[in-house]
Amino acid sequence: MMERRAFLTALSAFAAIALERVDLRSAQAAASIDGLIDDLVAGNRILAMENVLDGMGHISARHPGRAGRFLLARSVAPELVTRDDIMEFDFDATPVDAKGRTPYKERFIHSEIYRLRSDVNAIVHCHTPSLIPFANSSVPLRAMYHMAAFVADGVPVFDIHAAAGTTDLLVSDAKLGRALAQALGSKHAALMRHHGAVIVATSIPNAVGRSIYLDLNARIQIQTASLGGTTTSIDPADARLRMADPSEYSRAWELWKRKLNRADR
Ligand SMILES: [Zn+2]
Repeated sequence: MMERRAFLTALSAFAAIALERVDLRSAQAAASIDGLIDDLVAGNRILAMENVLDGMGHISARHPGRAGRFLLARSVAPELVTRDDIMEFDFDATPVDAKGRTPYKERFIHSEIYRLRSDVNAIVHCHTPSLIPFANSSVPLRAMYHMAAFVADGVPVFDIHAAAGTTDLLVSDAKLGRALAQALGSKHAALMRHHGAVIVATSIPNAVGRSIYLDLNARIQIQTASLGGTTTSIDPADARLRMADPSEYSRAWELWKRKLNRADR
């Protein structure tokens, strides 16, 4: 009898510990999605503050807990994005629970890249003016300095007219999104002819950092060319070593967030 009682006591203690663990795990998951949404809101507003995005363009993040899902704001200017604007989508770019919110037309850019690239956790789509000359000319973007070392891997150009004939230039369905994702291939960024660019990374801070430094790199390349003479760019082997740092933009990310908070006061 005593043995049975001791066994039951031990069993209920074990069950309590197991339940506590489940609670802790779901609390950790909730904290992680909460933090990710905060970063996604900050990412939108930082990219607007740094003039990479204007009234248009967007940044998304792969859902950390649900396979085949990603997070992206409703159709709103990036500078105005708040937590309530963040919507969840499946890989068909269908909102999970729209709650009356209108999604971006070009959300297929995100869904099709996530579908093709399991290594990508964050995506920026921008129309940054400094990038358009390189999207429209035969001069390729080259890595001008260490802050944009990822450019040394090459930045392909997606030509929507060559891929799909006559369109309104927007990547507004899955077929066009797939064509763009295929043009991006395994690279970190792709230019979109007569339109803009996509930039991908393993985290929101790195996607934001790459987008800001892709813009600066383009401007530096144009300035360098304007000097005349011979232009050099980073050796790909040097670039690979620089890119081995997984948190290459973490210090800058903290600064950008601080600047946002100051602007809010
Ligand atoms: Zn666009």
